[in-house]
Amino acid sequence: MNSENKKIITRFPPSPTGGFHVGSARTALFNWLFTKKHGGVMYLRFEDTDKERSKREYEKDVIDALDWLGIDYYGPFRQSERTSLYKRHLQEMIKGGHAYVSEEKEGDRGSVIRFKNPNTQISFEDEIRGVIKFDTTELGDFVLAKSLDEPLYHLAVVVDDFDMGVTHIIRGDDHISNTPRQILIQDAIGAPRPIYAHIPLILGPDKSKLSKRHGAKSTLEYKEEGFISDAMVNYLALLGWSPGNNVEYIQRDELVELFTLDKIQKGGAVFNIDKFLWLNKEHLYRLPGKELKEMILDVMPTDIFKLPQYSEERFNKVFPLIRERMHTLQDVQKMSNEGELEYFFEKPGYHPESLNWKSEPNIKNTRSYIKQILDTLEGMPEEEFFVPKIKESIWDYAESHGKGNVLWPMRYALSGVDKSADPFTLAEVLGKTETLARLNEAILKIDEHEQ
Ligand code: GLU
Repeated sequence: MNSENKKIITRFPPSPTGGFHVGSARTALFNWLFTKKHGGVMYLRFEDTDKERSKREYEKDVIDALDWLGIDYYGPFRQSERTSLYKRHLQEMIKGGHAYVSEEKEGDRGSVIRFKNPNTQISFEDEIRGVIKFDTTELGDFVLAKSLDEPLYHLAVVVDDFDMGVTHIIRGDDHISNTPRQILIQDAIGAPRPIYAHIPLILGPDKSKLSKRHGAKSTLEYKEEGFISDAMVNYLALLGWSPGNNVEYIQRDELVELFTLDKIQKGGAVFNIDKFLWLNKEHLYRLPGKELKEMILDVMPTDIFKLPQYSEERFNKVFPLIRERMHTLQDVQKMSNEGELEYFFEKPGYHPESLNWKSEPNIKNTRSYIKQILDTLEGMPEEEFFVPKIKESIWDYAESHGKGNVLWPMRYALSGVDKSADPFTLAEVLGKTETLARLNEAILKIDEHEQ
């Protein structure tokens, strides 16, 4: 087949019978990348022939997740709304001797429509797996439909792919065993054979099929956890595919450009949350500052805005520190919960004894260290109040009197918490005036306590 000048048509046909997990999202993405690369069309088709298990809420989940991932499509279509098409094919198959109505004695089926299996050898070339051969005798006369109005999966898939002109079927390799039946039906209804690419399963760290048990979530749950769309697309793309040069941070447009079926691996792809977190961090970090700032402000607890020293100017100084540390947007919330943001925007409250470094129990000494820092910083010109200069002005003193002895109280006076940014960064972010004020307050606190 000459696929060069033939329009590429793919499909993403989820069964809306459960949450939209990462495996489905990855299948959608591979189809989409391939389709975009070749300027084709991807159909979204809900395979809802299972009436009991199919639910509209699951369809919505798929649509919302695809929207979020930026995967566009043609449709959606629903198999439940196409029964007349399947019926016509069933009737023709019966007329042509490819199917027959079978009265079932066992079970409570009544009659069903069965495929008249020609019992042939089938071989197809999978783009990823290579040649796959199958003796269809073992499939027997399988059931195509419960009745003319109730088609089952294999018939509906084949009829739809034919009707929609699907050229490439990219789907999970758990469908390999379905392919021979579907090829038999294609041959019976005169449908051309599409090109198949069966992609490897996604595995958990223990190499079994990825599931909730491994902590895997539905696609939109990752959004709620503060992953961003571009990072998820990047990560999903690497699940079973790679451009082959060890590059991992890849933007959407580049993915489209680089994506080829022949770079898809055969073996299972292990889901690695740490790698996903790392990629999310990279994508967040490389966003234009303005965009990331807005995202952070959107998720920042509103209490922060109400703090007495909150200002846009101060936030802009804190922003690089948040950016440096965050892996997900949710981390902003976490930092706030752990009291790692508040002290930037309000004077800290603490017990003066906390100002003592662990090996310096004498508060009078601590007071003298703080006083020395205060005097030194006071003498610094405002325009030099940046990390390197601040550090330089204090460093020798800190080294000669014990770094912990000197820098711990400085940091504590500025933040009031055990874990915070380093004292020089704190001083720069707070600015000269506020830094001096907080150091002064520490001295006052000690004096009050000592009286
Ligand atoms: N509806 C099937 C599923 O959700 C997909 C069938 C196919 O890709 O042919 O697994």
